[in-house]
Amino acid sequence: MSQTLPNVPIQSTMMDFPLTIPYILERVNTYFGTNEVVSMIPAGRDAQGRPIPHIHRYTYHDMYRRTKQLAQALQDAGIQKGDRVATFATNHFRHLEAYFAIPCVGAVLHTLNIRLHLEQIIYIVNHAQDRILLIDNVLAAVLPALLPHCPSIEKVIVMGPLPSAVPGVLDYENWISLYNPDEFRYPQIDEKDACGMCYTSGTTGNPKGVVYSHRSSVLHCMGTALPSALAFSSADRLLPIVPMFHVMAWGFPWSAPFMGTSLVFASVFSDGPSLAKLMQDEKVTISAGVPTIWMGLLVELEQAKAAGTPYALEHLKSMVVGGSAAPESLIRSFDPFGIRLLHAWGMTETSPLGTASRPPVGVDFESDAGYQYRAKQGQAVPLIDIRVIDEHNHDVPSDGHSMGRLLIRGAWVTESYYLDEEGTRKSQVELEGPLGKQIWFDTGDIATLDHQGYMTIEDRAKDLVKSGGEWISSVELENALMGHPAVLQAAVIAVCHPKWDERPLAVVVKKPGAEVTPDELRAFLEPKFAKFWLPDAYEFIDAIPLTSTGKFLKRALREQFKDYVLL
Ligand code: AMP
Repeated sequence: MSQTLPNVPIQSTMMDFPLTIPYILERVNTYFGTNEVVSMIPAGRDAQGRPIPHIHRYTYHDMYRRTKQLAQALQDAGIQKGDRVATFATNHFRHLEAYFAIPCVGAVLHTLNIRLHLEQIIYIVNHAQDRILLIDNVLAAVLPALLPHCPSIEKVIVMGPLPSAVPGVLDYENWISLYNPDEFRYPQIDEKDACGMCYTSGTTGNPKGVVYSHRSSVLHCMGTALPSALAFSSADRLLPIVPMFHVMAWGFPWSAPFMGTSLVFASVFSDGPSLAKLMQDEKVTISAGVPTIWMGLLVELEQAKAAGTPYALEHLKSMVVGGSAAPESLIRSFDPFGIRLLHAWGMTETSPLGTASRPPVGVDFESDAGYQYRAKQGQAVPLIDIRVIDEHNHDVPSDGHSMGRLLIRGAWVTESYYLDEEGTRKSQVELEGPLGKQIWFDTGDIATLDHQGYMTIEDRAKDLVKSGGEWISSVELENALMGHPAVLQAAVIAVCHPKWDERPLAVVVKKPGAEVTPDELRAFLEPKFAKFWLPDAYEFIDAIPLTSTGKFLKRALREQFKDYVLL
């Protein structure tokens, strides 16, 4: 029998399934409750004042119940949908509980970067209007300087024992012990509700706030775990060294439980020896950190090997590297240890994962071509789009050489900054694309694309060296210099030049015990670059100053060498 269909667009029959953090919490308890969360936390100090490590171990079942106790405590304290609850803490199990409990009551997890200057932290707390602050015991010394300037904070909860009671401050364990996990009830949460927020460190002007939604965070979890991205599952044991106070530790505190991956945390212990031992003892299979962390680990692995007491790291298959460019030499150095460095790029505004670099099918990871691909920042992961444009907003050719501004859009990319019209306006670009006119986010990075869409970061726009109107990539020079056997770290900055406006100066830290001269470094670079790219001078220093997130603090170097006279 034929039927006449009404002439209306057909509706999907699919359920409306909200993508929310509570779903992840329920899932990890149902399917992966016996997997572990291990935390190396400080427990007192030794005679030299160094923190003594203590291993805390529990399962996701334990995490689930304690998270619900914390969630109830928050509700009982009057925390409601949309309220901001701040954390000022390193990586450990209690911070993980906060990562879930705060979004699960509909509130917004606001992770404060513990390495920022006090004035910046005060600005951020006031801008976000945080109501409760959860703080590590080892960081509590900041409270007397902070609290008088932060009137929005009603309650302070200290995570970890304090040597003696502090008036007006609650102990985390005492606080949550008052609540029965079985009595917790989730509020109604929409997937578009805010679940977390983070401020960019902002080298110029005030820090800018980025607010993540439940939906963007859940999709980001899926995107990061994919085999074509960072690839992890319930069989893995993941050590995120990236801090939980910066870009949500690249989302791992949510994505690992989502995938059932066991978590290992290192709290304040980020030196090479502590990390190597933790990775060995806890059979870590995947880790993530910035290049400076991996440089420290490499020194430790090489020294232990030379001493005939190598670490047993056969479980450790991959280490994600991002936050700043990973030199090809660094990527190569880990291969003899059976550890694959996986290069990824992203930023606070992109949750952060934007691109990851795996060589195309048919190219070996450990071949020369493979290393060249792996030193690039890579291809956009699914649900992310990138493009590179010139000063007229036209796409530059995808030839691997033409540099331009890197734009991005996607399911977990911010469209605006929190209560910041000017910042928002400056970051948005409206452009025509295959899917019509769309808003793109201007990253402030300068990049190239090759014909397969592999992206290479050439510089931050403000760090480019502009010599006689031509652009010189400081990142490429740094990466090449760090390939010299005597160089531990190298940063290239622009210094003023009467004829060329700017010329590159290389600031170099030598490896312990190694010697090298400027002439030798110049000879090392010569075959790799056009003559006008070569640094005019080399300065040797003991250490390169780092930003709050472990990147080279070029602003401080520029200040240090601002009167530098090129001969
Ligand atoms: P943040 O928001 O503090 O994480 O900083 C984001 C910025 O770090 C990006 O805009 C890049 O300039 C830089 N960055 C992140 N990952 C990489 C990478 N793999 N290579 C080069 N630069 C990177």
